[in-house]
Amino acid sequence: MKVLLSLGSNIGDSLSILENAITDICNHEQITLLKKSSFYITKPVGFLDQDDFLNSCISIETNLDAKSLLLFCQDIEQKYKRVRLFKNGPRTLDIDIIAIENMTLNEEDLIVPHARMHERAFVLVPLNEIEKDFYVENLGFVHELLAKLPKSSLNDIKCKE
Ligand code: ADP
Ligand code: MG
Repeated sequence: MKVLLSLGSNIGDSLSILENAITDICNHEQITLLKKSSFYITKPVGFLDQDDFLNSCISIETNLDAKSLLLFCQDIEQKYKRVRLFKNGPRTLDIDIIAIENMTLNEEDLIVPHARMHERAFVLVPLNEIEKDFYVENLGFVHELLAKLPKSSLNDIKCKE
């Protein structure tokens, strides 16, 4: 199945953390990298008094089931000694499952499509770069979701070179 993942970091050497985490994800023998977005410097959402984030998205092909993929992503978060002080607070590495082709899940520990993905420029801008024609179950195509965002939210995002 095809899966979209979002990665973010705002503690430590975020560029190295994201690059290494993407390498780790794609070293899994049941995961193949399809596309990788640029890195984006983004303003924090929710709790504003923290450093900017670095965000990126990847699309992968995998035969892992969704729960195993979540556990694998959480292992990688731990590898980078993820610190998460509070909700929306700073973190060394966050990996979210954004969408899975032709699938919705509503479980205690896994909601797919990700519950807030359609509100987040830091998810939709990188995704639109690599997968604008991906159909997100129940929500629409990535390019449609991006077009629905308030234009002002795009000011808070810039491509890192
Ligand atoms: P957030 O990403 O919302 O800032 P966390 O990364 O700490 O916060 O996630 C908290 C919990 O969210 C995880 O324990 C995980 O079980 C749950 N979760 C629910 N849906 C998803 C998803 N689509 N991707 C990743 N985690 C998810
Ligand atoms: Mg998360």
